[in-house]
Amino acid sequence: MTARTLKQVLTIAGSDSGGGAGIQADLKSMSANGVFAMSVITAVTAQNTEDVTDVFELPTSIIGSQLDAVFDDFEVSAVKTGMLSSTAIVELVAKMLAVQKVANLVVDPVMVSKSGRALLKPDAIDALKKLLFPLALVVTPNIHEAQQLSGIAIGNLADARRAAKIIHGFGCQYVLIKGGHLLAERGTDLLYDGRFFNIYKGEFIDTPHTHGTGCTFASALAAQLARGKAMTDAVQAAKTYLTETIRHSLAIGHGTGPTNHFY
Ligand code: PLP
Repeated sequence: MTARTLKQVLTIAGSDSGGGAGIQADLKSMSANGVFAMSVITAVTAQNTEDVTDVFELPTSIIGSQLDAVFDDFEVSAVKTGMLSSTAIVELVAKMLAVQKVANLVVDPVMVSKSGRALLKPDAIDALKKLLFPLALVVTPNIHEAQQLSGIAIGNLADARRAAKIIHGFGCQYVLIKGGHLLAERGTDLLYDGRFFNIYKGEFIDTPHTHGTGCTFASALAAQLARGKAMTDAVQAAKTYLTETIRHSLAIGHGTGPTNHFY
C-alpha cells in the first residue's frame, strides 16, 4: 500500500458544543471538500440550535502553542479564521500568521451568532481590520458583517458593491460578500478583487435550518483554494457545496438546525 497524502488546511475558530457551527462545522466542511482539516481553538461556546449560553476564551498562551504545534509539523496549504472573540486573540493570530506567510488565508469576520450573541467584542473589530485583513487573501463577510465593517446600509447589490470597495480598502486581496441575507437578491454573492466584480447567482433555499452556513462556506472555500482552484472557481465550488448542505439541512434540535455536510 502506498501512503496517501492530502492537502492540509487549518481552521482557527471557536468550538460550538451543538456541533453545527464554528470548529465543528469547519472540520466537517473541509473534510467533505477533500482536505485534511486541523483546528486551533480560540474559545469554547456552550451552544445548541437555540442559543449560545456561555463563552470561555482560551488563554492566548494555549492558542499560541496550538498554532506552533500545527505549523511545526504540517504543510499548511490554507488557513481559515472564524470566531476570534477578543483584541488579544486577533493580535496573536495576526502576529503568528504574518510570520508563517500563509498564502491562502480566508478571514471570516464572525461577529454575532444567528441567535444574537456577540462572538467578537466590539473593540476587536478595529484590530481585525488593521491587523488581519491586510494578511488575507479573501475576507468573507455576510451582509450584517459587511454593513458593520463598511458603515453602509446594504439593501441591494449596488450597496454591496460600495461596501466591498470600502472593505477591500482595508488591505485584503479579495472581498466575498455572502448574500444569504441580501434583501433584494437573496442567495446572490459578490466577489471583488479591487478592480472587477463577479456575481454568483444562486438558488435561495427557504429553510430555518441554516445554523453554521457562514462557517461552512468559508471552510469549503479554504479547502478549494488549498486544492489549487483559482479564486473565482473556488468560490463557485464552495457556493455549490453550501447550497447542497442547506438543501439537505437537518431539522434536529429545537431551534435553527445545522447544515448537512455529508448529504
Ligand atoms: N458559534 C461559533 C463558534 C461560530 O464560529 C459561529 C459562526 O461563525 C456561530 C456560532 C454562528 O453560527 P450561526 O450564525 O450560523 O448560527
